[in-house]
Amino acid sequence: MKKIEILPEFRLDFPYNLPALDYEYTALEPYIDARTMEIHHTKHHQAYVDNLNKALGEDALISKPLLHLFNNADKLTPAVRNNGGGHYNHSFFWKLLKVNNNEKPGGELLNHIMRTYGSFDEFKEEFAKAAAGRFGSGWAWLSLDDENKLFISSTPNQDNPLMSTAEKRGYPILGLDVWEHAYYLHYQNRRPDYVKAFWDVVNWSEVENRYKTIIK
Ligand code: MN
Repeated sequence: MKKIEILPEFRLDFPYNLPALDYEYTALEPYIDARTMEIHHTKHHQAYVDNLNKALGEDALISKPLLHLFNNADKLTPAVRNNGGGHYNHSFFWKLLKVNNNEKPGGELLNHIMRTYGSFDEFKEEFAKAAAGRFGSGWAWLSLDDENKLFISSTPNQDNPLMSTAEKRGYPILGLDVWEHAYYLHYQNRRPDYVKAFWDVVNWSEVENRYKTIIK
């Protein structure tokens, strides 16, 4: 994980705060409903922030920058690992969302996706498989590894590919929350429908910005 220092969030440090969204809770309708967004942001994400600050506040010795914690995820208490991941993953996720009117990623990233997966549709299929196949709660990811290869993975709970505990480590450029709290109000048990709707709310310019930052 030699590029961890170039991630924009590298300097995130204790105490952590709930980031404001740069859009309204209604902005992602009808794909993600306002009530889900509001509860997800103000209750779930806020709880990760509060519990992370509490757990870190009680440990005078631990080094608190998030990405440092992820580099040592195997040594963390469940409270720090779950809430640290929860805070990071959601802060990341909110920035990736925007109604996109069928926009696709541009130039270099699209080419890279096509080279890796054959076509944009095959990429979406494989990502959806990772999202649907994650048993219980977790996330699906598209990441770059240290060799600048794209890969799709999924992680349990609030883990992510930056963590030392990940099966395959890398730098996420796209992530999807597949916890039931992310979709149950609107989609109930129909996770595949939620995953399908996700393609309408990916902010590909944000994904591309991140891709360009990491691939340098
Ligand atoms: Mn969530």
